[in-house]
Amino acid sequence: MSSTQLPLALVVEDDPDTRTAIRRALSPALSVVECDSLAATERFLAGSLPDVIILDIGLPDANGHEICARLQADPRTRDLPVLFLSASAEIRDKLAAFSLGAEDYIEKPFDPAELRARVHARLTRSQGRRDAREVFEKFGLRFEVEQHCAFRTDADGGNNLDLTPHEFRLLYHFARHERQAFSRSELLRAAWGDTFVTERTVDAHVAHLRRKLGSLPCRIESVRGVGYRFIGLKADSAR
Ligand code: CA
Repeated sequence: MSSTQLPLALVVEDDPDTRTAIRRALSPALSVVECDSLAATERFLAGSLPDVIILDIGLPDANGHEICARLQADPRTRDLPVLFLSASAEIRDKLAAFSLGAEDYIEKPFDPAELRARVHARLTRSQGRRDAREVFEKFGLRFEVEQHCAFRTDADGGNNLDLTPHEFRLLYHFARHERQAFSRSELLRAAWGDTFVTERTVDAHVAHLRRKLGSLPCRIESVRGVGYRFIGLKADSAR
């Protein structure tokens, strides 16, 4: 999901009026693709992946539970958030949906604002999970975000920089925003969140980071009257 592209919702629903109501509820914040059967869904998924799937249970050639099970079985689609949207208020249908990995279950008739809010919540969470799994390499460093670890990737090879959690968050924030100058209070928010620490804490952490970065092809510069910025020193730093 890029910032210039709207998130894509795949709506699997055989009733045209319901499809229209879902499309109206989710537009214009999301792009919506509609499929009215398992067959149409499989054709679509063979070529594209949505960011979220809204799934009916009663479909002409399958039921939603079966589709959900297939999504779960395929590594390509396993992590897509699935929300069931069904007229069935049966507890066994709900339990089956959740046991198959569904993230949410909404009953018809639905409230458009509630559907919008639930879809948005699932999209935000799945984006957060994707970010956490991310491995990011730049400036002779490899960031393993979920583990909060950074390693050297240069000739010294694979050495863990042994960063504290706050040092990691600070360095990762710098590396994500190369050349951008940040004030100490902006860096506090980025690396410490709501915890109360003073701006001198930032200076101390920057000093530690400079020492740990050592000979790596990057540096943290002081920016007079502002704070700090991070600079990559090699041609490949823009990679
Ligand atoms: Ca149906």
